[in-house]
Amino acid sequence: MDASDWHWQLVHRKTVAEDFSAHFTLREDERLFFERTEGRVILPVAVTPYYLKLADPLDPADPIRKQFLPSSKEFEVKEYESQDPLAEKKFEAVPSLIRRYTNRAVLRVTNLCAVYCRHCYRRGFAATGRKTIDRNGLEEALAFLSANTEIGELLVSGGDPLVLDDGVILEILDAIRSLKRHLLIRICTRVPVVLPQRITTVLCRELKKRGPLWFVTQFNHSREITGQSRQAVSRLISSGFPVLNQSVLLMGVNDSVEELTLLFNGLACLPVKPYYLFQGDLAAGTSHFRLPLSKGLSLYKRLSSSLSGIALPFYAVDLPGGGGKVMLPHVTVERAGNQWYAIEDYDGTRHRYPAE
Ligand SMILES: *Cc1c(COP(=O)(O)O)cnc(C)c1O
Ligand code: SF4
Repeated sequence: MDASDWHWQLVHRKTVAEDFSAHFTLREDERLFFERTEGRVILPVAVTPYYLKLADPLDPADPIRKQFLPSSKEFEVKEYESQDPLAEKKFEAVPSLIRRYTNRAVLRVTNLCAVYCRHCYRRGFAATGRKTIDRNGLEEALAFLSANTEIGELLVSGGDPLVLDDGVILEILDAIRSLKRHLLIRICTRVPVVLPQRITTVLCRELKKRGPLWFVTQFNHSREITGQSRQAVSRLISSGFPVLNQSVLLMGVNDSVEELTLLFNGLACLPVKPYYLFQGDLAAGTSHFRLPLSKGLSLYKRLSSSLSGIALPFYAVDLPGGGGKVMLPHVTVERAGNQWYAIEDYDGTRHRYPAE
């Protein structure tokens, strides 16, 4: 096994302070995170050697580093933040299956990821207790899908489904296909960005037999587009799978017109369609990543005038507490006092979102 093997990348992930201090001069807040985790509920720390190398070790404010190296700022939890900001638990129709919309549902097949993104909105789920869906869990989810025929699309998500071995992934897909030959399956994964070695020709060949499949990945910065991530995406595309991208708007990572322009135009050339740009969810300990809504809206306005329709994603927010996704430019956003915005959803219900 060597660095081009995805198992090698997973086995050699960096997880503890010493691993990181060998590569970076840790900032005070990064050092404090490792010193003060005891007794706290934290999102685990892990980064593949491949993704770590994309960070410039001499830049303490590097945008890639910020996505995998934790900060003690994660301990600052606002009163409106939550471990489950989208109330996915509430929308769990059966364990592992989240249904918030009539026609589509999310199957969380594992809570493991290749890299734990410090801005993760599933931090109450990722890498906690239960791990990968078992046969009973899968059967229960499939029984629900069979009984609810309005569900025409299934998002296979996690954690990250592509950290599972080929055999497990194919078994899950085969079980779905044995019931639903034509169901549209959307695989949501950050693996092409953080572990591109995982997209092997063998996996692609097998997936191809189990379509229709779409992929949704999460590139957040133009420097994540590398020879290797480009190859991973090309393999998916040449196997016949459309690839979309969801980025998260992250302070200190991609919060400028210049960077987002590079990112979205770069993706369009892969070619990957930028699908969503998400305003940060109210996940516990992520306020240092969240851009004020007013700044996000003005950034997006400038992007809208300079990018083509192919390169411009929808700017959306997942309304706190399970209100669902809304496209921010299409809904009314008003100030509601000094500290809040009121966002009106498509049904006219108003939702609070912090102004800071
Ligand atoms: C985001 C999401 C979807 C997919 O929504 P699209 O707008 O189709 O991308 C489906 N179910 C849940 C619970 C979601 O959070
Ligand atoms: S890959 Fe997704 S679920 Fe996993 S840590 Fe990143 S954002 Fe969270």
